[in-house]
Amino acid sequence: MRSKGDFHTHTTASDGILTPTALVDLVASQGVVYHAVTDHDSTEGIAEARKAAAKYDGYTLIPGVEMGTDIEGAEVHMLGLFLNPDDPELQEALKTLREGRLGRGFGIVEKLRGMGIMIEWERVQAIAGEASVGRPHIAAALVEKGYVSKVAEAFDRWIGRNGPAYVERDKMTPAESVQFITKRGGLACIAHPADLPNMDTILGELTAAGMTAMEVFYKDYPPATVEMLRLAAERHGLLPLGGSDYHGIFGNEECLPGDIPLPDSSIERLLEMASKLPNRELIA
Ligand code: AMP
Ligand code: ZN
Ligand code: FE
Ligand code: FE
Repeated sequence: MRSKGDFHTHTTASDGILTPTALVDLVASQGVVYHAVTDHDSTEGIAEARKAAAKYDGYTLIPGVEMGTDIEGAEVHMLGLFLNPDDPELQEALKTLREGRLGRGFGIVEKLRGMGIMIEWERVQAIAGEASVGRPHIAAALVEKGYVSKVAEAFDRWIGRNGPAYVERDKMTPAESVQFITKRGGLACIAHPADLPNMDTILGELTAAGMTAMEVFYKDYPPATVEMLRLAAERHGLLPLGGSDYHGIFGNEECLPGDIPLPDSSIERLLEMASKLPNRELIA
């Protein structure tokens, strides 16, 4: 099912394959007109995406980020929507988070090399270019050298959260990220929550911290999962939101922007909530 909105996408500013311009062109060709760019710890793609979006009538480009956070035994990803890319305090914090990714990326490559998997850190950095470096860039170097045939296999074998080459980095807790996002005038939305342990406890805590939305319609979530999450959103009074999490790095099966069953009512409620945010001028 196709939606007019997609609130979770990546560009070359992090681990997406498309430039912000190419992403907006793809999103527009899919009939999506409410679109959030949510790169990992970066808003560097927003200025270009805005320019590209201006070519399309009625296209609303929402500036966002995806922050990686941690709880005991699991990763929690938090989307911050309606964040102002020109906010110096936001940029300072994102810069620190990106620097943490460098040391951690190097550490993962060292671990792989210790296991006889000889990829070069310089090559990973070259693949990432100016981007916020992430494990998919390491996965790409592994594919390039023929160690694996696709990105997902690299995660399954080595660099997934419990894999033998995984290295942690300094992260906020989920509640800290919610407070950070709301303090900077944005709206916090938990990403892909289906696999969280103790989901209801976490949702309760994060709602208390100021989170107002959760992803319900996500990439390849089957209807039963969507329904389970829709009910969870209702229980916690959270806006049911979602997106494709489009990266363009996962091959033919990857869900395209807008190919999610997100209803118009979610978009309407989001715009209504956004009109009350400190950063509401960002959608004008
Ligand atoms: P990082 O930001 O370095 O922690 O990497 C997180 C990114 O890696 C996610 O946004 C996904 O693009 C990708 N990723 C994480 N886990 C997996 C997995 N199991 N299989 C494939 N890609 C994954
Ligand atoms: Zn990613
Ligand atoms: Fe994520
Ligand atoms: Fe993502």
